Amino acid sequence: MTALLLALAVITASQGSAIELTFPNQPGLKSVEVNWQNRKVPAVLVGDKWVTVIGVDLDLKAGEQKANVLLTMDDGRIEKQETVVKVERTKFPTTELTVEDKYVQLSPPDLARATREAKELDAIHATITNEMLWHEPFSVPIPGGKGTNFGHRRVFNKEPRAPHAGADLRATTGTPIHATNRGRVVLAKNLFFTGNTVLLDHGLGIYSLYAHLSRMDVNLGETVENGQVLGLAGATGRVTGPHLHWGMRVQGARVDPFSLVEMNEK
Ligand SMILES: [Zn+2]
Repeated sequence: MTALLLALAVITASQGSAIELTFPNQPGLKSVEVNWQNRKVPAVLVGDKWVTVIGVDLDLKAGEQKANVLLTMDDGRIEKQETVVKVERTKFPTTELTVEDKYVQLSPPDLARATREAKELDAIHATITNEMLWHEPFSVPIPGGKGTNFGHRRVFNKEPRAPHAGADLRATTGTPIHATNRGRVVLAKNLFFTGNTVLLDHGLGIYSLYAHLSRMDVNLGETVENGQVLGLAGATGRVTGPHLHWGMRVQGARVDPFSLVEMNEK
């Protein structure tokens, strides 16, 4: 059999964005998987197309990156199709600050707690659930809300901090926070940096995080619908005032949450 035709061969994506990939279905095609950044990302059959989403981390090197598409046929044959992702640079703002050390140095117990929690989150983000739990476009957790600060780099006393991996949305304490899409609650608890935090698994390695909540209204393991209220905005954790910190990870890549919302708008 000749090589299968794919809908794409070269695609362009910006640092810190999510991109949807689609492949036409073919007779005898059993499964489709994309190898991206050393992770195996499954595609799922939706109607007559195989669909998946890959994430371009905000720090991924600009230039050409390979995404190998593996097509497994009913008879067990595997066909490989190379796709090139052209990663374009995104200019993120940088702020340099000089502050008293006591404001940036954590106490040993706080540091131990923050480190343990970061590992817990990394382990969740590294898990790719082999199904697509959502069926509708991604939505903004505060309807009509605008985000700021994604990718913002802060340098305190000449020491670079981790770039801001989410979007901050203006909110007063008590503002209802809605699920960006259908998914499963994989974490709902208080964390050192992000305070009361809800984390949803949407499948295919896509996770959404909602931080600094004053109240959490969902439980671990629960499946929530797109737009369902997860809790109320607040100022818990290390913050200076109430707002929603909304983070999205795609196979561990830190992406601008609004890139997922825009993904389905085109
Ligand atoms: Zn934030």
